[in-house]
Amino acid sequence: CGIVGFIGQNDSKEVLLNGLEKLEYRGYDSAGIAMLNENGMNHFKVKGRIAALRERVDNTVYATMGIGHTRWATHGVPSEENAHPHQSASGRFTLVHNGVIENYQDLRKEYLSEVSFVSETDTEVIVHLIEKLFEKYQDTAEAFRQAMGLLKGSYAIGMIDKEDQETLYVSKNKSPLLIGLGDGFNVVASDAMATLKVTDQYLEIYDQEIVLVNRSFVEVQKLNGVVVNRKPYTAQIDA
Ligand code: GLU
Repeated sequence: CGIVGFIGQNDSKEVLLNGLEKLEYRGYDSAGIAMLNENGMNHFKVKGRIAALRERVDNTVYATMGIGHTRWATHGVPSEENAHPHQSASGRFTLVHNGVIENYQDLRKEYLSEVSFVSETDTEVIVHLIEKLFEKYQDTAEAFRQAMGLLKGSYAIGMIDKEDQETLYVSKNKSPLLIGLGDGFNVVASDAMATLKVTDQYLEIYDQEIVLVNRSFVEVQKLNGVVVNRKPYTAQIDA
């Protein structure tokens, strides 16, 4: 399973699909991507291979930001409905997740009893929770931080807010995730292998940090919002 994300000046499709292909070795049963442009969010998901996802993707869609996912099902069968990205009820937030949310049933009972779910995944709880907290805080970064603070378990997460074409929201805990730094673009990946084609500059993220990834800068924060300064490193792997 794996995650890839892109925010830049050009179309995101090829970076996402190529990145997912590079992550195939990690194993998966389904895959999907979501790309945001001025027409809204464009979702493509399949059960099965990245090759099938490539065929499903509408090549006329041009979008300079997006997230992609290969799923290795832990909660819910491998299916198109359970494939990521998952969306919040209003459609505002779209999210990919690798890992397992151990307290998803408790979170659902406590915060989301009136929300109707479309998948059987533990992941869907996260995106509804972010929407719920957004209603309270009216601030996406704050809602994202608060939601991450409530999760127990392992996660690598990439999220897009449909109303914000400038930011990818990222976090991790006990699952791998890196930020790749480019010139006028930035990427997110489970493994530098996925994005070595576009950059060899990477920023490590530690557990329970939040990262706001913009086209030209990356801000790492603690769960309480305090900004962390960290230097990138050069990946020394053959692409
Ligand atoms: N637990 C999530 C699911 O079953 C994510 C699985 C993964 O890591 O791919 O959908």
